[in-house]
Amino acid sequence: MADKRDYYEVLGVSRSASDDEIKKAYRQLAKKYHPDANPGDKTAEAKFKEASEAYAVLSDADKRRQYDQFGHSAFDGGAGGAGGFDFNSMDMGDIFGDIFGDLFGGGRTRRTSNGPMKGPNVRTGVRITFQEAVTGVDKELELNLKEECNTCHGTGAKPGTSTETCKKCGGKGQVVYTQQSLFGMVRNVQTCPDCNGTGKVIKDKCPDCYGSGYVSRRKKIQVSIPAGIDNGQSIRIREKGEPGTNGGERGDLLVEVTVSRHPIFQRQDYDIYSTAPISFVQAALGGDVRISTVDGDVLYTVKPGTQTDTKVRLKGKGVPTLRNKQVRGDHYVTLVVQVPTKLTNEQKDALEKFDIAMKKGDTDSPEPEKEKEKSKKKFWK
Ligand SMILES: [Zn+2]
Ligand SMILES: [Zn+2]
Repeated sequence: MADKRDYYEVLGVSRSASDDEIKKAYRQLAKKYHPDANPGDKTAEAKFKEASEAYAVLSDADKRRQYDQFGHSAFDGGAGGAGGFDFNSMDMGDIFGDIFGDLFGGGRTRRTSNGPMKGPNVRTGVRITFQEAVTGVDKELELNLKEECNTCHGTGAKPGTSTETCKKCGGKGQVVYTQQSLFGMVRNVQTCPDCNGTGKVIKDKCPDCYGSGYVSRRKKIQVSIPAGIDNGQSIRIREKGEPGTNGGERGDLLVEVTVSRHPIFQRQDYDIYSTAPISFVQAALGGDVRISTVDGDVLYTVKPGTQTDTKVRLKGKGVPTLRNKQVRGDHYVTLVVQVPTKLTNEQKDALEKFDIAMKKGDTDSPEPEKEKEKSKKKFWK
């Protein structure tokens, strides 16, 4: 104790340093010399302890006052002091919680379970057509999956040998480090490094899986894609992911569905949108037009005088809902009147005659004036 360094000197702060300055100085030193950051370095360990001791005293108003008055002798049970000062009885928990909370990932006690753990999920993708999304489809996927090794049946041990209980942790999968001195009674629970938390060690590793217990195999997996699936949605296939550990179930396989674009149809939620051409004669006189739907072509009867951009709803011709195949969205069709571009002389004559008839009709038409004006504008503007 005789040649102990001055606590202020240890932390590199002045005697009038504020609590914040002391804390800041200690944080820097602790970070630099922490045993986790300097494994096996005795000098660093000593410096860390020295700084921790200085901080323990100077961060406590009462102890700092005693130290300022009596120096180190305040705590070695000597004259003038307030009695013995035992670092091991100090509540270091507060200090470490305070200082190391965000420095070393929170808390000194890292507890890792060696109970059953579900394996990680595996992600993959599949591309389907627009029509397949409407009707639903079964697909076969091929991917590499970890399977239990046939040679060792998942134990990882060479056939004829067996796994042994880990000596380091006694089969518990965890080891408890108790650090002495300044750390006092601080318990450090960690996953056993020898067995990685399984509690068992393999003496002779299985030659086929190198002791892992699993081999990667190309597997074919059937995936049933339900009617109504939309682009970007995923299907979860339970327990087709990575194997679990310590008897835990496998992770899941998540299949993301990409739906290819359709040349005519566009989808929004469960409704389908498309456009359909109609001739101007059909538009003017009315009649049946052929419209493509996901159920095949349907005949739709347009009314006489149908304008371009008229929207038509084909009820229940949309996409089935995922919940109930029988419940479907609608199909909205925009009728687009086509203006002919290449006309024969005969057709031109007919149109000219039609034009003359229209002009004549302006004066003695049986139809209301307004309607005709509207259609004239649409067709002949
Ligand atoms: Zn094996
Ligand atoms: Zn172990």
